[in-house]
Amino acid sequence: MDYFLTTDPWVRKALSEPVGVEDLTLLSDIAADKAVDNLRTRLKADLIYGSIGAVLLSVNPFKPIEGMYSPGVFDVYRGRARHELPSHIFGLTESAYTAMLDKGENQAIVITGESGAGKTEAAKKILEYLAAATTGSTPELLRVKEIFLESNPLLEAFGNAKTVRNDNSSRFGKYFALFFKGSGDAVGGRITKYLLEKSRVVKQSPNERNFHIFYQVVAAANQGIEKSAAVQSKLSTIQGCKPQDFDFLNRSGCFTVHGVDDAKEYRTVQHAMQVCGISEEDRASLMGILVAILWLGNVQFVANPAGNAQIQDLGPADKAAALLEIPGKLLQDALVSRAITSGGRGSTYFSPQTVPQAEEARNALAKALYSNSFDWIVSKVNEAIGVVDSKSCVSIGVLDIYGFEILEHNSFEQFCINYVNEKLQQIFITLTLRGEQEEYKAEGISWEPVQFFDNKVVCDLIEKRGGILSTLDDCCKQMMKQGGGEVDAEFIKRCIDTVRHDHLEIDTKFGRESDVTKFDIKHYAGKVTYDIEGLSDKNRDSVHDELLNVAQGSSNALMQQLFPPKAAGAGRAQVKTAGSQIKDQAAQLVIDLSSAVPHYIRCIKPNQSKQPGDFDVDFTLHQVQYLGLMENVRIRRAGFAYRNSMARFLFRYACICPETWPQCDDLIAGTHAVLKMAGVDEAGYRIGKTKVFVRHPDPLLVLEDLRKEK
Ligand code: ADP
Ligand code: MG
Repeated sequence: MDYFLTTDPWVRKALSEPVGVEDLTLLSDIAADKAVDNLRTRLKADLIYGSIGAVLLSVNPFKPIEGMYSPGVFDVYRGRARHELPSHIFGLTESAYTAMLDKGENQAIVITGESGAGKTEAAKKILEYLAAATTGSTPELLRVKEIFLESNPLLEAFGNAKTVRNDNSSRFGKYFALFFKGSGDAVGGRITKYLLEKSRVVKQSPNERNFHIFYQVVAAANQGIEKSAAVQSKLSTIQGCKPQDFDFLNRSGCFTVHGVDDAKEYRTVQHAMQVCGISEEDRASLMGILVAILWLGNVQFVANPAGNAQIQDLGPADKAAALLEIPGKLLQDALVSRAITSGGRGSTYFSPQTVPQAEEARNALAKALYSNSFDWIVSKVNEAIGVVDSKSCVSIGVLDIYGFEILEHNSFEQFCINYVNEKLQQIFITLTLRGEQEEYKAEGISWEPVQFFDNKVVCDLIEKRGGILSTLDDCCKQMMKQGGGEVDAEFIKRCIDTVRHDHLEIDTKFGRESDVTKFDIKHYAGKVTYDIEGLSDKNRDSVHDELLNVAQGSSNALMQQLFPPKAAGAGRAQVKTAGSQIKDQAAQLVIDLSSAVPHYIRCIKPNQSKQPGDFDVDFTLHQVQYLGLMENVRIRRAGFAYRNSMARFLFRYACICPETWPQCDDLIAGTHAVLKMAGVDEAGYRIGKTKVFVRHPDPLLVLEDLRKEK
């Protein structure tokens, strides 16, 4: 046990006197408020990590903690079994890495938690640890590492924004897998993205910003930092403009982020694009698209005497068209009118649009431009990392995805996020139970079944045929055929009539069905109320055909990739609804995660002020509930609350017992002796091949007391 001789100050501190309990399974009382209390006590002592069995807990300290990620700490964790050392993200990563190499099994690390809880920081630490652990220095390996690390600022510039909860909040989910050869060297990787919150492009809540990249582009245009003439020419149309001049940026009253220099960030992104193999030509096109989106936002409509939308000032529309390399007149027409194909013979006529309809079309185009650009960037990063034959490799994947979201008003975005979290919980339950069973088997201990809430019923309510998503899709399709109508109202009517379910609550006590504006879902983590208004629009999520045709007609090479022409003879493209896309992605995620050995990190945000030293008990309690932590403790405790290697157990407790102190040669006999000393009877524990399992946590408290007396 040479590691106890370590001189690393962080490790020594974490190994010294216990502060609260490190593993919540050992709480003498399984109550959420006791768990929160424990987290608070530990955070005060800078002990941000803890656990529930194999699940790592991480509480955001909102300040750097001296030495916690130093090379010295890295050295201590490298090559050691996780349970021998204090909880740390390095320990979890090390165990995933060695398990992958030793057993040749794929590993997946799932990170969940509130926005601002520290998920992305955790993902970066994992990546840095793996980068340091893969010691090979072949040029190929260095290349993959560099692209992976550099792609982070690039994806963050396009996918992150300042929100009230987090100055650098990821508004998309990301799964990155690193592929390794059996020797442990990284040979490639792949990034998958989920659910970009594209509504942010056109609208932000008060005190939040649009995606970072927009402010960076405006700053770059003004500070002349762009060296490339091609890019500069795209930026020149906004030279002299401030974020305040653009409607897509100036509605939330927030333009800057404390401590962030947008121009400096622009340079980082510029460099990252180079590393990720984005050519100067593509970069210029991409910047052109971003600037075009800003100008599109400034296109204002007024109603003509007939009540039809008309563009107020052609200036911004023409600038956008020029940047997108499409004819100005076509864009103008497509914004204010829409082709309707009617009758059996399919004759087409142009229907003028109202001002709100035109605004909707403009916003839909802006969102499509942005989200297609984002997808393209992800594909470029993947291309740069290189296609590897993943079959001949093993991998470690990291899922960094926003956790359960309960806002004051919850809409389609929250519904999707919470659905994905239900799916994650479902995998968690299945895999945790499987993991428990396997551990018992490996240690030669007999399995005992446990009681828990299985949230499969909630997943079914959302995703099964006849459930919420398919009902919403059916309503959208049918109403489109009928040429519009009150889709949201039809949706809720059908929910009331046909989607009967214990976990769906629709309050029809007051007034008629058509007055219902909300519905509740009882998620595993608690009840969430969703607004019905706008659900169907967000689900349809489509740019109407004329605008799509205009975008497809661009002479710009990048635009042609973002909006590929419809295959000849394909007719009207079957566009997937946003809901069914999410369902597909969630299903794929389940497949990916189920084929790997899972590891879990639950991140907790102790306050909303983002200040170190501030601990908001109610806010933390809420997260303990919706992360399902107490449920997790119960699953874990149903079997054996405590388990540890006999070596580590004895290292801590050998001192209380004359048979084991100062000398203990037989681990098994020593363990029996110590437990006997603490008054644990034979039914209260089991000894496996390498570990000791103790059923209830109380004896451990006795042991701790005895130890203190020594
Ligand atoms: P999330 O991805 O969960 O929304 P982030 O990982 O972006 O949250 O964390 C938000 C902020 O909290 C970070 O920018 C950083 O300032 C701080 N933070 C998060 N984790 C840590 C940590 N382990 N140590 C110190 N500060 C942290
Ligand atoms: Mg994040």
